Amino acid sequence: MLDLLLKNATLPDGRTSMSIAVRAGKIVEVAAGLDAPAQQVVDAQGLLLSPPFVDAHFHMDATLSYGLPRVNQSGTLLEGIALWGELKPLLTQEALIERALTYCDWAVAKGLLAIRSHVDICDPRLLAVEALLEVKRRVAPYLDLQLVAFPQDGLLRGPQGPEQHLSNLKRALDMGVDVIGGIPHFERTMADGALSVKLLCELAAERGLMVDMHCDESDDPLSRHVETLAFETRRLGLHGRVTGSHLTSMHSMDNYYVSKLLPLMAEAQLRVVANPLINITLQGRHDTYPKRRGLTRVPELLAAGINVAFGHDCVMDPWYSLGSGDMLEVAHMGLHVAQMTSQAAMHQCFDAVTVNAARILNLQDYGLEVGCNADFCLLQARNPVEAIRLRATRLKVYRRGQLVAETPLATSQLLLSGRPTQTSLMLPADQPHFTDSYLPA
Ligand SMILES: [Zn+2]
Repeated sequence: MLDLLLKNATLPDGRTSMSIAVRAGKIVEVAAGLDAPAQQVVDAQGLLLSPPFVDAHFHMDATLSYGLPRVNQSGTLLEGIALWGELKPLLTQEALIERALTYCDWAVAKGLLAIRSHVDICDPRLLAVEALLEVKRRVAPYLDLQLVAFPQDGLLRGPQGPEQHLSNLKRALDMGVDVIGGIPHFERTMADGALSVKLLCELAAERGLMVDMHCDESDDPLSRHVETLAFETRRLGLHGRVTGSHLTSMHSMDNYYVSKLLPLMAEAQLRVVANPLINITLQGRHDTYPKRRGLTRVPELLAAGINVAFGHDCVMDPWYSLGSGDMLEVAHMGLHVAQMTSQAAMHQCFDAVTVNAARILNLQDYGLEVGCNADFCLLQARNPVEAIRLRATRLKVYRRGQLVAETPLATSQLLLSGRPTQTSLMLPADQPHFTDSYLPA
């Protein structure tokens, strides 16, 4: 007997009338029209069943701190970093844990079940590291939290000097932080930035860890840290283990230079995370008009065979005053800013907050295939494009075959004469959805 049988679902690749059979927290069968005895049977009524959303770039130590101790007046990245510096001495472990747990509640409600969060290691007390390791332990039954040791104030520039931050970072790794972070564009010179990339990649090679750096998060067309990151990745044989986050300077780089950079990144199997909500908000702040969008070159990176995910980055913190853990909102913004409007490109935007992000976290047993964990999300939409368009309601969220969140169907009652009595804003099931031209890779 199965534990759970989910019938009549549409999958992101377009297959319809699909059943997913679950036993002991795992998917044991995926087949069209399958019927078998189960403890619980759920009729998806033709709606979209997706693997859970994955956020490949977040800051859980800062989340939900908006307004503490004040708000960011200029709206820039640099004032955000300064403001975070004012907040850090005031942080308590209890408050930090409470805010992070609240955010994880929001995430689960939105079907977001895996998050890679950077955690600032510059405070020698490592209070945020301890707090987020505790959060990671507590949320483990329902959410995978992966932590990146992040030298927010720069590895080489901080007030306590380079040795201090490097030793904090190593201590954080010893305590159980999973990934090595960095912020080369915030070091004092291009040379120091390059040196920080080299040192951090060497540490990753030595310890057998993954790397995820905030890299070239500026509008400077001459910023070259992603080149160094790709070069060091190749030199040290870290292929497929290294992620460059943001890469906003690529938006402004010379086209000839980018044509040389992309193959280097592809050879290094560099992973990329763009953060559309934050990039469109923080970049171009020094421009008058025209104002640059600042998002990295997502379609070109994808065309070069590079794995690109979209991250949320911030929710209600010194850098960003909005957000709710909704990765469909992130995909929606990414689609617009990168002008990814073809059917194939819109599906790629959905992949950027699901499968591509899971690849970056190196999540095991993720997906809707036999043998994968029974983690999935039933959406009030008939396909990934409609899910993005509506930022679809997460009707049911499952973790290891157990229901962990539920939201009622979103329907508006209409009181109009001669018109239907309600609408869900979805196209009727029998109306063409224009997805025929889309063939999954
Ligand atoms: Zn970030």
